[in-house]
Amino acid sequence: MNLREKIRNIPDFPQQGIQFKDITTLLKDGKAFRLAIDMLAAPYKDKNIDIVIGPEARGFAIGAPVAYVLEAGFVPIRKPGKLPAETIKYEYSLEYGKDALEIHKDAIEAGSRVLIVDDLLATGGTTRATVNMVEQLGGRVIGLAFLIELSFLNGRQVIAGYDITSLVEY
Ligand code: IMP
Repeated sequence: MNLREKIRNIPDFPQQGIQFKDITTLLKDGKAFRLAIDMLAAPYKDKNIDIVIGPEARGFAIGAPVAYVLEAGFVPIRKPGKLPAETIKYEYSLEYGKDALEIHKDAIEAGSRVLIVDDLLATGGTTRATVNMVEQLGGRVIGLAFLIELSFLNGRQVIAGYDITSLVEY
C-alpha cells in the first residue's frame, strides 16, 4: 500500500499558489488510515508516552487514534476561544497567514512524556507553538509525528533537536 497515492493534491487552496495536500482521501480508506496510524505509533511503542497532543482539526483525526494505539491520553490544541477551562495561548505564523492556539492549563502534568501528532509539517509554526506550550506546562516532548512533511519549507529547522517521524515527504 502506498500512502502517497492516497493523498490528493488541490491546487490554489485555500489561496492562489498553495498546493494543498488533502488527506480526506486517505482517511476514508480504511486500510490506508489504519496503516498510517500504525506507522505513526510504531516508533513510540516502547517510549512510555503519557499524552498525545493533536492540534485542531486534522490533528484530532490523526492524534486520537495514535493515542489509542499507544494507550496514552489525548489532549487537544484548539483555536482561541474554543476550550472551556483556563488556557495558555501562543501566537504563531502559518504557511498562509497568522494564527493562535490554546491548550488547557491543567492538560499536562509536569514531567509527562508527550508525543505531538499532526497531519502535516509545513513551516513548523504550528508545531513550534505546540512544543512551546507543552514545555511551558512542564511536559517533555519525546517526539513529533506527521503524516506529511513539506520538506521544501524547512519546518525541521524550526523544531531542530526533536525526534521527528514523517511518513510521506514532498
Ligand atoms: P505549519 O505551521 O506551517 O507547519 O503548518 C502546518 C499546519 O497547517 C498543520 O496543522 C496543517 O494541518 C496545516 N496545513 C498547512 N498546509 C497544509 C496542506 O497542504 N494540507 C493540509 N494541512 C495543511
